[in-house]
Amino acid sequence: MSERCFIGLGSNLADPVAQIESACEALSRLSGVRLRARSSLYTSAPLGPQDQPSYTNAVVMLDSQLQPEALLDALQAIEQQQGRVRKAERWGPRTLDLDILLYGNRVIDTPRLQVPHYHMHARPFVLYPLAELDAHLVMPDGRPLRDWLQACPMQGIEPIADSAKTYC
Ligand code: ATP
Ligand code: CA
Ligand code: CA
Ligand code: CA
Repeated sequence: MSERCFIGLGSNLADPVAQIESACEALSRLSGVRLRARSSLYTSAPLGPQDQPSYTNAVVMLDSQLQPEALLDALQAIEQQQGRVRKAERWGPRTLDLDILLYGNRVIDTPRLQVPHYHMHARPFVLYPLAELDAHLVMPDGRPLRDWLQACPMQGIEPIADSAKTYC
């Protein structure tokens, strides 16, 4: 049995577009994971410290047979493989960030993992690419994605001329 998951990707170092593409390849190579689609790419202004490059963001849709904590382990391994260095500074620059946005209809609240992602409702660089993948998405609490979109103007993000991708 697999569950439909959405993962947010972000990068602002070392050729962000290539980082996103190689992360998608790494995700598709995971066993127990089937990559279904990738949104188009967006650039966004950084959260937190402003003295860092702007970000490239995307969202992917995948079907996972891995349990949520195992999926997080796999995502963190991909971040490491792509040279992520964790520093004390919150929201500092990084080669790759992979966040679990949604895992099926599950609500998870452990020290390591909060799903749905705690701040996705306020992040245009998450909500707009997510809506490309499934405009009719409904959150685990029954709220439609379109309610969040209406409360979150498309500010501070710009689509990059790169079309969405479907995987088989
Ligand atoms: P933000 O979470 O605000 O987007 P960030 O992505 O920069 O910030 P990180 O330093 O990448 O934060 O992650 C800190 C910790 O968040 C991770 O070690 C992980 O255990 C935890 N975490 C909690 N919920 C999630 C989730 N849904 N997806 C990924 N990591 C999560
Ligand atoms: Ca796979
Ligand atoms: Ca993040
Ligand atoms: Ca993260």
